Amino acid sequence: MYKGIACPAGYGVGKVIIINNALPSYREVRITDHEKEWERYEKATEAFKKYTLHALKRLKNALGDEADVLEGQIRLLDDHTMQSEIKRRISEGVCAEWAVHIVCDRVTSILTATGDGLTMQRAADINDIKIRLIRILTGIDEFELDKFKEGSVIVASKLTPYIAARMDRDKVVGIVTEEGTKTSHSAVLAEVLGIPTVLGVDGIVSSVSNGMNICVDSVRGMVITEPDKATKIKYKEQQKAYLQEQEKLNAFIGKDTKSADGTTFKIYANATGIADVKAGLEGDCQGIGVFATEYVFMGSRNAPDEDRQFEVYKEACELTGKNPLVIRTIDIGGDKRIPYLGIEKEENPFLGVRGIRFCLRKPDILKTQLKAILRASAFGNIKIMMPMVSTLRELRQTRQLLTEVKAELKKEKIKYDKNIELGVMIETPAAAIMADAFAKEADFFSIGNNDLTQYIMASDRGNEGVSNLYSAFDPAVLRMLRQVIAAANREKIPVSNCGEACAIPYYVPFLMACGLNEFSVSHTKILSVRSEISKWTIEAAQDYADELMSFTTKEELLENIETIYKKYIQ
Ligand code: PEP
Ligand code: MG
Repeated sequence: MYKGIACPAGYGVGKVIIINNALPSYREVRITDHEKEWERYEKATEAFKKYTLHALKRLKNALGDEADVLEGQIRLLDDHTMQSEIKRRISEGVCAEWAVHIVCDRVTSILTATGDGLTMQRAADINDIKIRLIRILTGIDEFELDKFKEGSVIVASKLTPYIAARMDRDKVVGIVTEEGTKTSHSAVLAEVLGIPTVLGVDGIVSSVSNGMNICVDSVRGMVITEPDKATKIKYKEQQKAYLQEQEKLNAFIGKDTKSADGTTFKIYANATGIADVKAGLEGDCQGIGVFATEYVFMGSRNAPDEDRQFEVYKEACELTGKNPLVIRTIDIGGDKRIPYLGIEKEENPFLGVRGIRFCLRKPDILKTQLKAILRASAFGNIKIMMPMVSTLRELRQTRQLLTEVKAELKKEKIKYDKNIELGVMIETPAAAIMADAFAKEADFFSIGNNDLTQYIMASDRGNEGVSNLYSAFDPAVLRMLRQVIAAANREKIPVSNCGEACAIPYYVPFLMACGLNEFSVSHTKILSVRSEISKWTIEAAQDYADELMSFTTKEELLENIETIYKKYIQ
């Protein structure tokens, strides 16, 4: 049995198909016919582009924005400096494989040294290019499509967009990779593909062989190779039950989101781009609870100008139509850095110039964004949301900028929604403690419990070393949530929750009891949250929440939660 990171949930039982996307071995030979070697290199790059474009065509519809990575790889390969460096090595007598290896490694190490998330992603792309080019040069095909038989489980060192594009999605029942963390590119791809996947399983490629039986349990993050008959049967049954459960959820498509006693809630989807908006709508969301715009910035080399941003926001709000599209102003800093915005390296980026703090220091960037959002607001139901707010002053300053931008638009006779709402994310303890005051000035709240939990518990959300402390079930977090929601209820402003915990079945009735109005979740969780809500009366949820609130440690709470949950669920 192997352990890894599960995403997305499900079970897959099938036979291994290894996709060897590791660097192949080759001989470092000296060459004398430089021209012929350059031709060989050029032929390989042509093949690379042909395969990539073919993959891109397959991928574009299925994976939306993720496909851009492949386009980016073609651009990187065409990069003039890289090309001339490779040419120079070849003219010095280095064979093509070796030249590609040296040059790509140099670029990768320069990019990696920046320590910047987006630049490092580019380094990972160069590494992919290197491996694929050398595989083509050495004549080792990457993988053949006819290898995919019904019930295949892909085992690879890494899940790349190229693999995602080339695999036959109807035949693949599971994916296992050696690399990948919960927030990696592989995880995003796996989520979009919707195939049970376990990432980060060390040494799995060399531990399996083609055709071997394998069970992928991406509910628990486990992989079992060569299962005995009983295990195989058990997993097949779990897979069947899981699929039946999913089937049952389909009954909630197109339904209102209501508790068992008729209280109405809304379920929105979280989005980081247009593809997510589409996925959310396909998943039957009632709007987009967070449209995280930093990804619009992270996906380009320069800051997108007002028109470019306007196009994106307009496209998103035309898709959501009458339903709300909550656009979050850029939340950079923390773990998200954008080189061209000139954010200084900080000792403690999560406590640094992040989110609205950054924007208020660069009012031009914020004003451009607000203007693009306001212009788009003439085409749908847009609301604006501020991330990482800690003081009322930040809200007032932003409102002031919004007023200024509105005046500019009015002067320019450009249409916008005059009543556009401005809400705040409650994700710092300061904002949570001051929720009563914020509720008097903000148009709505959205609780970001990914961050709120890390700041309340003073434990970095990405640091394994303190993951025992980082829990949305800690009584400190539950108490804070109850206060924040009550403050919003008192002022009668809508309050939503958009952190990951709000989709957990045990969390849903707690939030219902507190008085939450809206849940904003991954598109894969919309129906399961709607179903969960339907199983609770408000009274039962309140009894359940009261019992949870009686615990003073999360350990005791988690030991008892299942029993309490079962006691009250309808
Ligand atoms: C959160 O903090 O809960 C949230 C939704 O925002 P992000 O995860 O993007 O910081
Ligand atoms: Mg956050």
